[in-house]
Amino acid sequence: MFLLETESRSDKKKKVVCFHWKRKVGYACDELSKSAENIKMAGGRPRNPVNLVPVDQVLQPQQVLEEQWTLLELIPAVDTTDKAIQWLARRGMLRNHLLCHVCGNGMTVSGYNGHIDGKRWKCPTQCRGGTKSIRFDSWFQRSHLPLTKCILLLYFWVEDLPQDKICRELGIGCHTAIDWCNFIREVCDEDLRRHPQQIGGLDPQTWEPVVVEIDETKYFHRKYHRGQWREGHWVFGGIERDSGKCFMVEVQDRTRATLEALIQEWILPGSHIISDGWRSYHHVEQIGGGGLYTHDVIVHENHFVDPKNPAIHTQNIGNTWMRAKRKLKRQFGTSEALLQSYLYEFVWRNKYKDGQRSYFSRLLTCIREQY
Ligand SMILES: [Zn+2]
Repeated sequence: MFLLETESRSDKKKKVVCFHWKRKVGYACDELSKSAENIKMAGGRPRNPVNLVPVDQVLQPQQVLEEQWTLLELIPAVDTTDKAIQWLARRGMLRNHLLCHVCGNGMTVSGYNGHIDGKRWKCPTQCRGGTKSIRFDSWFQRSHLPLTKCILLLYFWVEDLPQDKICRELGIGCHTAIDWCNFIREVCDEDLRRHPQQIGGLDPQTWEPVVVEIDETKYFHRKYHRGQWREGHWVFGGIERDSGKCFMVEVQDRTRATLEALIQEWILPGSHIISDGWRSYHHVEQIGGGGLYTHDVIVHENHFVDPKNPAIHTQNIGNTWMRAKRKLKRQFGTSEALLQSYLYEFVWRNKYKDGQRSYFSRLLTCIREQY
């Protein structure tokens, strides 16, 4: 979606390196199963399998996306650590095999009581490669929460269970729940960056301009205890009137330069833009030298809907602000510093709003893609 803070070059580099490394490991898989076979033969006694689940049981991203989970089905599928490990490996969310970084041999899985997962990767040779967590190089690596709870937490987040209820259901502290919900929002944020989606343009069927309502609103503007005003944050956003696809972005100011740049970034040429009478919007039709957008204005001091043309209003974006604000208010532990991340969550949910598919499957595929 939209890039607010640009990634630092070193971060990008890290990702690229990581990606290449993963590919290399991927190519080495065949070699790995051969060497695993050799280890078994040479040692003369059977060893633990070197895959968490058989390779042919690992689902493709599209298959994961098409799964429809209900809580009733999910709980028995992941209610022990072993089942949770297999469940995640099958969905490509844990490394299904691992090569020893010292000797290059396929690591085996061995029981280990010193970790909550009860097992770990272990090099089968005498090299000093040692052991690795079963969560190595996965999204779950940074947490010590049992994997069963991790999976259920993802499900509860998707189902919009408030954080205090998540804590109670999973028997976890509120700091853990807040951290996790923030990790999940980071996934949403990254997904929006990877798959930016502009809105508006021309309707592919009718070639008519798609109507986009734009508006700005202030968040967290409120009287603080002791009567001081706390400065709020301006958020600029737009919504496609018919589909509900939207973007939202925190802005430092509401000047013409800022808002026009964001319009060009987020709204496709050909769109018909409707805004209120804020002066920064006076030149929308001249953006990019003119000809990109058409523009109607509804002056809210006079009416909310144009009396001559009832199509001229910004009530969709108004309702969207209201829903977003209500949701922010309801969130347990909402902090102003996290405003942008809450907006990402909101836009992400809106982007994938689809009666057919569950957000849960979508979230799983996003995590898989990113790790
Ligand atoms: Zn080794």
